[in-house]
Amino acid sequence: MDQRLTPGLYIVATPIGNLGDITMRGVEILRGVSAVACEDTRITGRLMQHLGLKQRLIRYDDHADENAREKLLALMSAEPVALVSDAGTPLVSDPGYRLVREARERGIAVTSLPGPCAAIMGVTLSGLPSDRFLFAGFLPSKDKARGDALAELGAVPATLIFYETSPRLIDSLTAIAQVLPGREVAVARELTKMFEECRSGQPEELIAHYSAHPPKGEIVLLIGPPVAKQATMEDAETMLRAELQHAKASQAAAAVAKATGLDRKELYALAMRLK
Ligand code: SAM
Repeated sequence: MDQRLTPGLYIVATPIGNLGDITMRGVEILRGVSAVACEDTRITGRLMQHLGLKQRLIRYDDHADENAREKLLALMSAEPVALVSDAGTPLVSDPGYRLVREARERGIAVTSLPGPCAAIMGVTLSGLPSDRFLFAGFLPSKDKARGDALAELGAVPATLIFYETSPRLIDSLTAIAQVLPGREVAVARELTKMFEECRSGQPEELIAHYSAHPPKGEIVLLIGPPVAKQATMEDAETMLRAELQHAKASQAAAAVAKATGLDRKELYALAMRLK
């Protein structure tokens, strides 16, 4: 064990496909801890073998009984312990939340080593607006619950990110076409792996593509934010009538042009006719 590591919990992100994506600091921490808590000892065992490391692996998930969590908390208050998940960033649709919460409440040092995360890679690849995004885990599998979730989240002015499985992709795209028509969608599949792809378009186009080419592997599904409806000249006329109650034609045209993005000169001509 590397004596320089202080006791505590070290949350370590691991690759989501390409093993080269583990960070240098992630490897150093895994080398320096006395144990690694993981979801599946066989999967993490393969990563450790690839890295030439032989640390003790302890199976952990948030459904573990109190006794198992207590033992782990006792260990990390005395020694450095890493937490990893099968792939990517622990706690992101993966176990760890309860452990981190308990550790923090007990004053155990907790730090996190950033690294691969499919949701973040998906949003960076998709070409969808990335200034605001909302990660919502997996959509429900039942039709009604999935539709309700899409209707609720669809109102949020942000790009939506979901984790998805290949057998359920077409059902989810169909639900998006019904509940959020006209929204741009992206499917980011097999990220960092040999058959990585990111395909975007209207849900109907993606349904047609994936019906002809059934998708395999792991998927991040993204939905672009709601697009403000382009105002028509009819909308503008209603707005101009209201403005003209208290403003000159030029001022009314300027205000409505700013609000709608419509042409100011055309709006001025309309305002003059309405006066
Ligand atoms: N903690 C992980 C992370 O940081 O991305 C996610 C764990 S979650 C249980 C697994 C889901 O993440 C998969 O079903 C898939 O939706 C998504 N995922 C994981 N790896 C992926 C990859 N290489 N390409 C696309 N999606 C991936």
